Amino acid sequence: MKTAAIIGGGPAGLMAAEVLSGHGLQVDVYDSMSSLGRKFLMAGKSGLNLTHSEPFEKFVSRYGSKKQEVEKWLLKFTPDDLIEWARGLGVETFVGTSGRVFPKEMKASPLLRAWLKRLDAAGVHVHLRHKWMGNITAEDDGASSLAFETPDGLKTVKADAVILSLGGGSWARLGSSGEWVHWLDQAGVKVEALKPSNCGFDVAWSPFFKEKFDGQPIKSVVLTFGEFHQQGEFIVTKEGVEGSLVYAASAGMRDEILANGKAVMRLDLAPDKTEAQLFEKLSKPRGSRSMASHLEKTVGMKGVKAGLLREFVPKDEFADMARLAFYIKQLPVPLAATRPLDEAISSAGGVSFESLDEQLMLKNVPGVFCAGEMLDWEAPTGGYLLTACFASGRVAANGVMKWQGNR
Ligand SMILES: Cc1cc2nc3c(=O)[nH]c(=O)nc-3n(C[C@H](O)[C@H](O)[C@H](O)COP(=O)(O)OP(=O)(O)OC[C@H]3O[C@@H](n4cnc5c(N)ncnc54)[C@H](O)[C@@H]3O)c2cc1C
Repeated sequence: MKTAAIIGGGPAGLMAAEVLSGHGLQVDVYDSMSSLGRKFLMAGKSGLNLTHSEPFEKFVSRYGSKKQEVEKWLLKFTPDDLIEWARGLGVETFVGTSGRVFPKEMKASPLLRAWLKRLDAAGVHVHLRHKWMGNITAEDDGASSLAFETPDGLKTVKADAVILSLGGGSWARLGSSGEWVHWLDQAGVKVEALKPSNCGFDVAWSPFFKEKFDGQPIKSVVLTFGEFHQQGEFIVTKEGVEGSLVYAASAGMRDEILANGKAVMRLDLAPDKTEAQLFEKLSKPRGSRSMASHLEKTVGMKGVKAGLLREFVPKDEFADMARLAFYIKQLPVPLAATRPLDEAISSAGGVSFESLDEQLMLKNVPGVFCAGEMLDWEAPTGGYLLTACFASGRVAANGVMKWQGNR
């Protein structure tokens, strides 16, 4: 019986295990952690957005410059296939108001439990606390030898095919530490540096602002950055900004910071009013009212939104109502840096597509395939991350079958 070693028991690796065990291979899943799917479970804490219900064309456009590569995987395992697959595990889904698809129970644990049970019944062996140390030795018979650090010391195993599904580099405490970047780099695999994706940003708030507004949501604003223009909300933190709207715009803002050392996002703090309407209201006589009270009474700017104006409208323009109206519609918020990779929802960068063939096998390490977030693609939140991880796990597993067949 042919054997496959899958290193990394997240969504991508487990999906590969399912496909390979279904084809009759002996499958062993190795993971450095003491349980599988930790990041998947963490994703379940915020509802587990499995996929998205929008039309396929729109769905694949979310993968930006890597659309062509990811589309090939998704054509073989579509968002609808994923919903059907979850149903097969007893997990019914629903479409939320935003079009996002969630399990009815809004968590990952029932799905993961059912899945692990099914994999166990299919004969998949799981080896926990087995940390792969980055070495792969090609044997004369075409198999690979792999070394793992285990609680019982170093262990070497041999497998006919290997799938690496080691995840990205964020939330290292859940297992995906990104250490593999260095190892694969040394093996001559082209790996793009891991970068934060769906991440927050540092903003140099004044001590007053950060003390007063730390943790406050900024609701219903429009964020503009380059082509990006979207209404939503985000949160002020002591360090800067985080949350869904900022994450959605984060790829472009991150790249701008990488290229030029800084980026400026523009906020429309009053999307339901035009600049002319704001100007008209602000121009009403202020009388003896303070500026704060005038802003609140005339255009409803108070709390954290008024605080933002105080932070970023130049002092000498604050009393000029035309300028103030302009700034309410286009407030520049300078971003100093991305928050660290470890805090990001996901990683950009990873194993370059140049290093992989169509089956996701490493061109210079025959018999070793890669899948999941460790590949060089990124996507916004919305279920796009998990969908592509699952789909790529299937592609790599089918690649193993094809490769075995050819040998
Ligand atoms: C807070 C949060 C919320 C999220 N919510 C969503 C969401 O709602 N929808 C969505 O689509 N995506 C979401 N994501 C992203 C999604 O969870 C990941 O993209 C996905 O889990 C990646 O799957 P993967 O299989 O590629 O890697 P991972 O899930 O990271 O699994 C990699 C596995 O490899 C193991 N490993 C790493 N190195 C080694 C080694 N050297 N030896 C042995 N084992 C190793 C790790 O322990 C881990 O188990 C969220 C992420 C976070 C952090």
